Amino acid sequence: MTDAETLPILFVPDPRLRAKSKPVESADPRIPALAEKMLATMYKANGLGLAAPQVGELLRLVVLDLRPDDRLEPMVLVNPEIVAESRETEAREEGCLSLPGQFADVTRPRMVKVRWQDLSGAKREVEADGLLSVCLQHEIDHLNGVLFVDHLSALKRHMMLRKLAKELKAQQRD
Ligand code: ZN
Repeated sequence: MTDAETLPILFVPDPRLRAKSKPVESADPRIPALAEKMLATMYKANGLGLAAPQVGELLRLVVLDLRPDDRLEPMVLVNPEIVAESRETEAREEGCLSLPGQFADVTRPRMVKVRWQDLSGAKREVEADGLLSVCLQHEIDHLNGVLFVDHLSALKRHMMLRKLAKELKAQQRD
């Protein structure tokens, strides 16, 4: 799995990060290879999750690996959707591979119930809290063109996006 080809990750303000992704059709033959490349890309970038639009594919596909106990435990979620969420919220620091170097506390529902299909087409469901809940909500947001900074105040979001733009420009100059 780790010797799979990796893909370039899109950074804000690429407009593809703001698009709404399309459902994956059942038995789409491109999905297993794309999921494998997305996992390799995520591991290489040291991220916990990656959504297909972050590599320019506007499809409802997410990969995750929280690496519990330092073991690899890849998850591939086809057409994931949040079907229930708690009223209780929790704030946690988030970052994003498409906004490198930017971190902020984001308040979200503490628990979510998520349904998806795995690569074999089987229906799966989890009730998540903690880090898994945050990662699922963050990645499913990407499928709707939503970024974690959208959950912040406008002032904070603009400051962060300006800082990111400046940093990316400086990197290009190097
Ligand atoms: Zn992200």
